[in-house]
Amino acid sequence: MDKPGIVITGASGRMGQMLMRTVLASDQARLVGAVVRPGSGWIGRDVGEAMGGAPVGVIATDDAVEAIAPAQAVIDFTTPEATLAFAELTAQARAVHVIGTTGFSDAQLVALKPAARHAPIIRAGNMSLGVNLLVGLTRKVAAALGEDWDIEVVEAHHNRKVDAPSGTALMLGEAAAEGRGTTLADLRTPAREGITGAREKGSIGFAAIRGGDVVGEHDVIFATAGERVVLRHLATDRAIFARGALRAAIWGQDKGPGEYDMADVLGL
Ligand code: NAP
Repeated sequence: MDKPGIVITGASGRMGQMLMRTVLASDQARLVGAVVRPGSGWIGRDVGEAMGGAPVGVIATDDAVEAIAPAQAVIDFTTPEATLAFAELTAQARAVHVIGTTGFSDAQLVALKPAARHAPIIRAGNMSLGVNLLVGLTRKVAAALGEDWDIEVVEAHHNRKVDAPSGTALMLGEAAAEGRGTTLADLRTPAREGITGAREKGSIGFAAIRGGDVVGEHDVIFATAGERVVLRHLATDRAIFARGALRAAIWGQDKGPGEYDMADVLGL
């Protein structure tokens, strides 16, 4: 099989730059396009030079239609609104859409579905192997421990993150709820502030810390009288998400239309 041609959207972003470096360093894929926001100072520049290095022969553009048309995969870590627009173009190109963007509303997730009828969409709030293992462990521990074990998800991220709880925290909460035989929508406690009353038995709570340059830290705490179990993942390098996303883009090459996640990619 030829090396798939990959387009990175949000190319000037934190993850966008990490993704381009990962694709450029890979011998299994080619970087064929880089999409930035209209008005971006990167437009018309070689992305290697824009990142402070040698030219790589890929020019940043805000013309997503033209950039995405020849792609075999689009790796997209942007915003929910931008991702919805890219999903339509990626479906038209019959390319694999790897979505790392977080913070979608339920309505936005429904709006993504038509695109998955034409091409594979692989979406995960966290693309790392470690976190996806943690999701499975969380499901198992929640199933093994009864309702007198309170479940709390605590996460920390850098001070530029715009959504809370993190997409990963929500994945972990959903896995805990599945372990309990239900959905997070049924068990989720609203953010705590003021006189909240005592903790509701069986509920799942979330807390978010924002500061500095923290890449991503997640604890799932199971607490009962006299003891606690804490499952923890610490991300120290954004490259783990980029490597996972590239693996997903390559995995998706021979898959049919539909919605997939990292558990599918990793065979978990
Ligand atoms: P970031 O640095 O703000 O990057 C987002 C990029 O998207 C920016 O360069 C932004 O451009 C660009 N963008 C926004 N709208 C656009 C549009 N219409 N067309 C083209 N580009 C557009 O944020 P980040 O830290 O890289 O994170 C991006 C997303 O990935 C967030 O949702 C984050 O939670 C998620 N994330 C997911 C994982 C995972 O494993 N799934 C890991 C890390 C992060 P401007 O700067 O010009 O606005």
